[in-house]
Amino acid sequence: MELNIAPELKIAGRIGSAHLCGEYPDMELAGGAVALSKPVELDVRYSFDGEAVTLTGTLASAVRMNCTKCNEEIIRDFSVDFSERFLKVSENEAEELECYAYSGDTLDLDRMVHDLVLLNAPMYGTCRPGCKGLCPVCGTNLNKSQCSCSRVDESNPFAALLELKELLKDD
Ligand SMILES: [Zn+2]
Ligand SMILES: [Zn+2]
Repeated sequence: MELNIAPELKIAGRIGSAHLCGEYPDMELAGGAVALSKPVELDVRYSFDGEAVTLTGTLASAVRMNCTKCNEEIIRDFSVDFSERFLKVSENEAEELECYAYSGDTLDLDRMVHDLVLLNAPMYGTCRPGCKGLCPVCGTNLNKSQCSCSRVDESNPFAALLELKELLKDD
């Protein structure tokens, strides 16, 4: 995504605003990837103070992931408020100054979008409160049907002890 800031660069203090929308491919991350299920939307206001361009606003999108308990695919909306500075410096200098670089009269927003998504997108979630998950024995999705496997109730730590006690009694 790009933002033309030519009018704002001419007059320091002038405030521009924009609504931008862009599609992004899956974003790689150590240990996985973030898959966006809809385009990234940005609502931004920006101005130039004679040195830096400050961009504030909201980023919103949605991620596709699998329920950590039953593995069903789920979609999670998320949004994040941000405020970032862009300076007319090299990429390396920008990194040292903890801001973003721009050149000419255009802000290239892709790097910032990547950072904001990777830092703020939810990575884990369950499909519903109290998802019953999968049967550890046969793999049945217990939200959808029951199976006849005998299971230890994991939510009750004493259940396992009671079962052990029963086993010992039999010996
Ligand atoms: Zn689930
Ligand atoms: Zn089962």
